[in-house]
Amino acid sequence: MADPTDPATWSPATTAVTAGRPPHEPDQPLNHPITMASTYGATGGVEYGRHGNPTWTAFEEALGALEGGRCLAFSSGLATVSTVLDLVGQGAAVVAPRHAYNGTVMQLADLEARGRLTARLVDVTDTAAVVKACDDAALVWLESPTNPALELADIETIARAAHEAGAYVVVDNTFATPLRQLPLAMGADVVVHSATKYLAGHSDAVIGALVTADDEVYDALKGRRDLLGSIPGTLEAWLALRGLRTLHLRVERAESNARALVDRLRAHDAVAELRYPGFGGIVSVVLAGGPDAADRLVRSTSLWVHATSLGGVESTFERRRRWRSEPTTIPEALVRLSVGIEDVDDLWADLSGALDAVVP
Ligand SMILES: *Cc1c(COP(=O)(O)O)cnc(C)c1O
Repeated sequence: MADPTDPATWSPATTAVTAGRPPHEPDQPLNHPITMASTYGATGGVEYGRHGNPTWTAFEEALGALEGGRCLAFSSGLATVSTVLDLVGQGAAVVAPRHAYNGTVMQLADLEARGRLTARLVDVTDTAAVVKACDDAALVWLESPTNPALELADIETIARAAHEAGAYVVVDNTFATPLRQLPLAMGADVVVHSATKYLAGHSDAVIGALVTADDEVYDALKGRRDLLGSIPGTLEAWLALRGLRTLHLRVERAESNARALVDRLRAHDAVAELRYPGFGGIVSVVLAGGPDAADRLVRSTSLWVHATSLGGVESTFERRRRWRSEPTTIPEALVRLSVGIEDVDDLWADLSGALDAVVP
């Protein structure tokens, strides 16, 4: 039962709207301003602009409340990833999905090539294989659903095995958002976000964040952020918080649009295979006409925009293998759709017309 005096009992929709606000007092603004400051009066808690900023704090309070821990914002999702990976000792083993976000896999490969750590890439759907790979690992990195294969990991079972092996568990929750999956409650030590995607949600800011309920881990990561300087821009933090206020509405609409499109796409002759994890706004299709059909599709719509990234209010799509760094285990003809919040019939009219033209 919701207790109006206890924010911890409020539903995520209420938390998204209310967390990280200034106190309700006469003449207090309802929103934290964009505080442009490189330095602060000495002997307070902040001191310098690389150590903290009230606009970051507002965003961090809101996302921390949604994920159930303490949040740190970063300059991008990948700056968050590199700061977390920097925690493991020299030569440590890191387990990660072979279909994790491409930049994450590339960071691991780069660190491995320089002798910094060893990466064990796994199929996250094969829980027994992942559990086996946890042995002697220092960190187990999970992403669920994965990008763009949309595979799901058994986070609870893997987290238990990882902890038995003494490893930290990190979950990239960018695709699911805290509204569909709460990794800390499932046993993860750290949740990572590209806030660039659903959290900010308007394709206008690059920013990252992490959340942890472990004070020691928080202090270590805050220390790394202070030292490495991987801090967010003040405007970006403000935009991310502005986006977060409508996260629940955008996710609900994107998801209901995606569900309606999944049924129609499955029945279309241009589609050979469809992947959808059952929630969220990301759908991947493999075109029956092969890579050529996929390239023609993304060039022939009016409403759908051919663009990388995802999680914005507008519908976008992309043939992923156009990137040379994309794993070869991703089908050549796979197109990843990021379903937006437009009218679903308008979306389908545009998409089905383009699909009709690429039926083999
Ligand atoms: C985009 C993305 C990232 C990287 O985030 P940036 O903000 O682009 O640096 C990491 N993980 C996932 C799942 C992503 O989609």
